[in-house]
Amino acid sequence: MAPALEAVGLGRKYRGGWALRDCDFTVPAGRICGVVGPNGAGKSTLLSLAARQLTATEGELRVFGEPADTPGQRARVAYVTQDKPLYPGLTVAETLRMGRELNPAWDEDAAQAVVDQGELRPRARIGSLSGGQRTRVSLALALGKVPDLLLLDEPMADLDPLARNQLMGSLMSAAAERGTTIVLSSHILPELDGVIDHLLLVQRGRIRLAGDLEEILDGHLLLAGPAEGAELPDGLVIERRAAGRRATALVRTGEPPAGPWEATRPGLEDLLLGYLRAPADPAPGTAPANAAHEKHEKAEASA
Ligand code: ADP
Repeated sequence: MAPALEAVGLGRKYRGGWALRDCDFTVPAGRICGVVGPNGAGKSTLLSLAARQLTATEGELRVFGEPADTPGQRARVAYVTQDKPLYPGLTVAETLRMGRELNPAWDEDAAQAVVDQGELRPRARIGSLSGGQRTRVSLALALGKVPDLLLLDEPMADLDPLARNQLMGSLMSAAAERGTTIVLSSHILPELDGVIDHLLLVQRGRIRLAGDLEEILDGHLLLAGPAEGAELPDGLVIERRAAGRRATALVRTGEPPAGPWEATRPGLEDLLLGYLRAPADPAPGTAPANAAHEKHEKAEASA
């Protein structure tokens, strides 16, 4: 089966510079993939490219083996953007009815379950809902569409912990029952633990880590040892810190190095924090994080 996503030399440039450059990665079908990185790293750009709402400036991003200009591909993909465009004047029930009418393969039960779980009144107007409630309606529309690929840009940011937990459960069961590939960006690291099985770490417009999560974790160690006199081969160290007389380091190897080090396998959060605290050099010409930009270049998101 073709991978859900396959990037080869993928790059996207805005007027301010490159937001993504030289990206090569594969996300196999059926995975739950976390896209992690600081603000301005290029996560939304990557998801918009996958949703075909942006075009690549160089290279390509194949979706289920198909190039960007394949007709009919959008029906297989649902994309929940951060701004979650919904019609404020419609009610919850009318919004779901619109989803049903626009999507031939509509799963009413899946969509309704997400709305019911949040105890949303069918006659409530979208404009009167809180940010988290609108997120819920957007996710209901996305799951109702029965996509093969579900792209979620910071889906949980405005949800309370119970709603997050419920919605993560709905997403995981969609993935388990239908084999839906889910690609979700997040900077709330604990929320990804136990959910994702594939990782893309984006930093300054480059892919810094990509692959099966367990394999990535197996290929790293957290080391603890004395701050003085404990050497480590330079090429292995992702991040090294000293606190008083103790030093800790995240290293890229599954084999404990020689020396007075205690080695443990990192958890997802240890791994991500280590990389995020020690950013690699930016791609030449990459737009600086948080540069002023006009979001109008991004096409309107569709449900
Ligand atoms: P993230 O989702 O990781 O926060 P983005 O993909 O939104 O990152 O942005 C990556 C870089 O591209 C940033 O430097 C941002 O300022 C720039 N950028 C994003 N969207 C636009 C746009 N529409 N026009 C110009 N620059 C943009």
